[in-house]
Amino acid sequence: MGRVDLRDIVGSLKFEIELREFIEIASRVLREGGFRCIDLNNLSREDLRILKVLYMMGCRHVYSCEKDSKDWYSLEDLGFYDDISPQPYRVFRDSEELLYRNWPTPLLRIRSLSSGGVRAWAKLEYYNPYSMSIKDRIGWYMVKVYSEEKGEKLTGRTIYEATSTNTGIALAAMSRLNDFKAVLFIPSTIQKASDILLEVMGGKVERRPKTLTIEMIDEVEQISRSSGGVHLNQFYNDANFLVHFRYTAKELDLQIRSAGLKMKGLIAGIGTSGHFSALSIYFKNRLGSHVKAYAVQPAPGEIIPGIRRIETGMKWIHMASYEGIIDIRLREAIEGALDIARSEGILVGLSSGAVARAFKKLVSEGVLDEGDYVLIFPDNGFKYIEQFSRYFSGEIK
Ligand code: PLP
Repeated sequence: MGRVDLRDIVGSLKFEIELREFIEIASRVLREGGFRCIDLNNLSREDLRILKVLYMMGCRHVYSCEKDSKDWYSLEDLGFYDDISPQPYRVFRDSEELLYRNWPTPLLRIRSLSSGGVRAWAKLEYYNPYSMSIKDRIGWYMVKVYSEEKGEKLTGRTIYEATSTNTGIALAAMSRLNDFKAVLFIPSTIQKASDILLEVMGGKVERRPKTLTIEMIDEVEQISRSSGGVHLNQFYNDANFLVHFRYTAKELDLQIRSAGLKMKGLIAGIGTSGHFSALSIYFKNRLGSHVKAYAVQPAPGEIIPGIRRIETGMKWIHMASYEGIIDIRLREAIEGALDIARSEGILVGLSSGAVARAFKKLVSEGVLDEGDYVLIFPDNGFKYIEQFSRYFSGEIK
């Protein structure tokens, strides 16, 4: 028998794994780089839990213990990397394939931020097709997990979600592909273009006189409940964390290895904290605790779309470890995006500009060892013309 399809064992298992337990087991598997053979005729409860975690990590198979079997199988043997399968000739049957069969999103060396032996590499998340942002991943996965776990489709239902735009666009796209409605709540601080963009994508927009997306969660939950809708809730839904662990991190892992990089650190913004936390946990286990992780947040009183301060409350960051949190002002974020535009010729968004500025600060403080650093650039700059224009007119100090 030897190799066994993991789906055949785990597919029918109905128990749920707590996220903390997932992280504990997945971290061990990443640290050890694989998993042993298992006695399929004598599966313990612990084995079943590990198998479920392997499945959630995207492993395809495990190996039964037999006379001539090895007692250890690598992540490659388990088919761990198989779910990153880009379409080489870039022909896609539908826009959903254009999303997940186009991964990995590019990893680009940023020459203007690299100096001496310290090199910056940006993961360009605007290569996702719907919102042109990292949030396509979670919009897609929250919907997928909802229908797989609940065994019911969202067809004909209405989903309600608080968003700073990108998750809203991703969910509006999902709603068109899967025939449900999307009602999106955005705070007053977000650029006006967002209403139009969300409407163009077929979403219904509700503006609220709030400054932060998260302030609307209770209201959204109540409206969703009272109207029999669905609140996927990106701030608490573990599919947000898991999609980055299973895809974003794994892609980066493959990219880093294929390019022979010596990854020394990660710099990323925090909004829900989904991508920063998943990447930090993944790489500190896969490559070792020498990988430093720095989170980027707006300085007190500043609004940078997509990211917010850690004390406003976020779920996953407290499960991760990191070396520091860097404050960036809106002005610095805009200037970070302008620097990238004018030196690399690519127009990145404001949270990307904030990440670029944070990296520059770390370099100037001399806290980074020589090596390769991954910066996550969540979206591009086309949504933020309003902020660029306010900057050029001297309004943003
Ligand atoms: N940057 C942008 C432009 C975003 O839209 C978001 C999230 O909405 C983030 C950064 C933060 O990402 P996360 O929610 O994974 O922390």
